[in-house]
Amino acid sequence: MSSAAVRDRMLAAGQRITRQRDAVAGVLERAKRPLGAREICDAVAKSDPDVGRATVFRALHALVEAEIVQRVALAGGQSGYLLCEAGGHHHHLVCTSCGRTTDLPEAVVAPFLTRVEETHGFTVDHASFDVRGRCASCT
Ligand SMILES: [Zn+2]
Ligand SMILES: [Zn+2]
Ligand SMILES: [Zn+2]
Repeated sequence: MSSAAVRDRMLAAGQRITRQRDAVAGVLERAKRPLGAREICDAVAKSDPDVGRATVFRALHALVEAEIVQRVALAGGQSGYLLCEAGGHHHHLVCTSCGRTTDLPEAVVAPFLTRVEETHGFTVDHASFDVRGRCASCT
């Protein structure tokens, strides 16, 4: 995703564009796998040492709010952040070997979750429903 596309989506989501938000999006754009908040801070600090950690966290939060960046659960319960081509609610395949993530549209998981609700009378909160395993290049 180009930085122009990121900016367009920030504006569409009613978010301001700041140098820090640009920097965070750029770091995630270059990453080949989801990054933890600390990794993002370190990477931003490398190119822009004046940006404080709190500012990076706020920028990251704004990008998550705009659904440009999505959070995934990594092994060990850590959160990873990735830049998503797809806007809105969706899920991810997370490769535990190389870290690559693939968007998994809601349409793929919805029938399964509906079935779980029907058979178990359980209201699914699936905001953090990601699938871990090995991607095609790692199997
Ligand atoms: Zn995604
Ligand atoms: Zn892989
Ligand atoms: Zn869903």
